[in-house]
Amino acid sequence: MQAQTEGRRDANLALLLRALRARGPLSRTQLADWSGLSKATVAPLLTDLEHRGLVERAGTTTTQGRPGRLVRLRPGAVCGIGLDVRPGHLGVTVTDLTGETRVRRQVACDTGVPEHALDRLADLTRRVLDDVPRAGWAGVTVAIPGRVDRVTGTATSARLRWRDVAVVDGLAARTGLPIGRLDLDTEANLAACAEHDRDPVDDLVYLTGDHDVTAAVIANGALVRGADDHAGEVGHLALDPLGGTYCACGRRGCWATQVGLDAFLHACAPHHDRVHDPALSPGERMTIVRTRAERGDARTLDALHRTAEALARGLAVLTTLLDPGKIVLGGYFAALRDWLVPPPRHGGTAVTASTLGFAAGGVGAALAAVRRVLDDPAALPVEAGGPRGGGPA
Ligand SMILES: [Zn+2]
Repeated sequence: MQAQTEGRRDANLALLLRALRARGPLSRTQLADWSGLSKATVAPLLTDLEHRGLVERAGTTTTQGRPGRLVRLRPGAVCGIGLDVRPGHLGVTVTDLTGETRVRRQVACDTGVPEHALDRLADLTRRVLDDVPRAGWAGVTVAIPGRVDRVTGTATSARLRWRDVAVVDGLAARTGLPIGRLDLDTEANLAACAEHDRDPVDDLVYLTGDHDVTAAVIANGALVRGADDHAGEVGHLALDPLGGTYCACGRRGCWATQVGLDAFLHACAPHHDRVHDPALSPGERMTIVRTRAERGDARTLDALHRTAEALARGLAVLTTLLDPGKIVLGGYFAALRDWLVPPPRHGGTAVTASTLGFAAGGVGAALAAVRRVLDDPAALPVEAGGPRGGGPA
């Protein structure tokens, strides 16, 4: 009986946090209306959240002629750490409870050697943890451009040349952080969640615009993972199986051979051109391409035109199959939105460019990490003496 009451109380704490996240500052009366709880129930829950350092006072409001004190999520109180891995580069993102990105850093790294990459990821994690109060971090989530096993915490990625790499165990061993607060997911899934967090439409498809082209599907507000967690590998839709280019998967004419970043860059410039320089980040390469397109470079414009056509052909398949409310194009599709994103249509599926670009996976990872506290605020300790000190600057 006791456990049941505590379970209900924890669920109500989470309910109030979600309300404040979705609606901004609210009074006790507004929170009671929104949650369906009584004001007498809301009051001690708010005190609890305040003692955990999660909410703070935010002035007053007048509802139905009566003044009420407003509360809001405390900026910087709790942080989620997102790590992202791409060939040659690692990223770290720190997001707080309100969803605001507080830190975003990228470093070059030889990611082909998993041990090196894990060493550097552990360094990045330790460095940002120095800026976050120890009790004030929710967890660490790693975004992987490939397949993950979320039960064993391992990742396999052809792009990274990783096979069954023990990411979670490796990070736990290097940082000493509890394994229960570390996890991983695919870059596409996490990026989709980041986009959904900004615009919570019920049915959303996110498409990575990178070497691999992968979709993440959110249906009725929930991620579609598939029976083996492999849903969304749309880069291997055989759009030209007879005449197309051979794909790394062994088949011909896969969509990724037409619109993957490698294919696009090779259409843009010969192999010795600096857009192929692995030392440059994808964002830097896209700046070069954009400058050339704006100057009217014929080869660049031809590559953009053909890629836009091939992109539209695949998007038509996704739209027919899933009828999403919105498709968000990420990665280089977003960086080159002026040429690649189809114009808005009246009715049907809206196709938009991600505003997060290549950072979407990292931002989504940090949000996934902070979601642990949004889902279960009681997991954070109540500190003696009330609210904690400030979060990271
Ligand atoms: Zn393929």
